Amino acid sequence: MLADQHLLRIPGPSPIPPSVQRAMNQTMIGHRGKETKDLIQRIKPRLKPIFGTEQDVLIVSGSGTAGLETAVVNTVKPGDEVLVIVTGAFGDRFVKICQAYDVAVQRYDVEWGAAFDPAYIKTYLKDHPNIKAVFATYCETSTGILNPIQELCTIVHENSNALVIVDGVSCVGGVDTEVDAWGIDVLVTGSQKAMMLPAGLTFITVSEEAWKIIEQNKQARFYLDLRKYRKSLADDSTPFTPALSLLFGLDQVLNLVEEEGLQNVYTRHELMKKMTRSAFKAMGIPLLTADDAASPTVTAIRPNDFAAEDLRKVMKQEFNLSVAGGQQHLQGKIFRIGHMGYCSPADVLQIIGIVEISLRKIGKQIELGQGIRAAQEVYLQQGVLA
Ligand SMILES: *Cc1c(COP(=O)(O)O)cnc(C)c1O
Repeated sequence: MLADQHLLRIPGPSPIPPSVQRAMNQTMIGHRGKETKDLIQRIKPRLKPIFGTEQDVLIVSGSGTAGLETAVVNTVKPGDEVLVIVTGAFGDRFVKICQAYDVAVQRYDVEWGAAFDPAYIKTYLKDHPNIKAVFATYCETSTGILNPIQELCTIVHENSNALVIVDGVSCVGGVDTEVDAWGIDVLVTGSQKAMMLPAGLTFITVSEEAWKIIEQNKQARFYLDLRKYRKSLADDSTPFTPALSLLFGLDQVLNLVEEEGLQNVYTRHELMKKMTRSAFKAMGIPLLTADDAASPTVTAIRPNDFAAEDLRKVMKQEFNLSVAGGQQHLQGKIFRIGHMGYCSPADVLQIIGIVEISLRKIGKQIELGQGIRAAQEVYLQQGVLA
């Protein structure tokens, strides 16, 4: 097996484009010098379209969870009542972070594999007028669901003064996200999923309403204090040494996105989702999620006549293709294919081809080519990507 060829198709970290990899190799520079200022100046306006915002997008060094914790410590304090919508493992993480800070958490649990129902939130807010913030996950990576964030924002803003705080780590950059138009108060994403970078950066947007809360929030915080990041960013700087190599890479990621066109990036993800889903349908293998709530960045498959772990093992051993297993109670029951960031329809055809041959290896009698053919047909129907 080629040691260097690792087909990384887990829902993050995702593969890095070669030009981004090279950009990250640049010689180190001083974080208080002109080069860094120029770099931040170049990055700052070009991040905004990806988030659909006119606000500056704050950059904190840390993994996605650091971003989630940043959102929590800045907007709420011990004793505040919040609602966390839990559609899977990452909604659950928001609960745990809130609990760590003694925030009074209520949870709205949704069956894993389904999207949440915004109508439930309306009733809930009417009955609980003291809720300070509603936390939600845009793409729930553990199930492959894309939750209705726009509808959530409308309902929360019409029925309360609560902030809407969204974890968009596994889809922002690959899925249309309109922070300003939808009214997302705080949106968090990470660098290692659809943003085509290694882990280490988290991006955060903050609405006017959220800033008012953040400015007055008495909760103790230092490294994660967003006020510091806003002040520094206004001056094209960061309060602490930024992960400079990742910023070099980000500069190149933005070049790639601009070259392809952001809408084309979204169309590509939508196409990869449809190709993947139609392949498994054609093979008669059940998907965890319904079509109308499926994420363009990750697909969860729930086999009923073979072991997900056997398939993952063969794919890894023979083709060095990594897909993810299930988390928590779905462990061993599902497998998840990441198709985000540096991933194209050509990669999807490769993945499906490997899935088919590996299914045969573990003894499932499928007809070779069925899945591939379905994916090819979707591609032909959707037209060639520009
Ligand atoms: C990956 C991911 C995170 C962040 O995880 P880290 O390991 O801290 O980067 C958070 N939320 C979602 C939805 C994710 O997919």
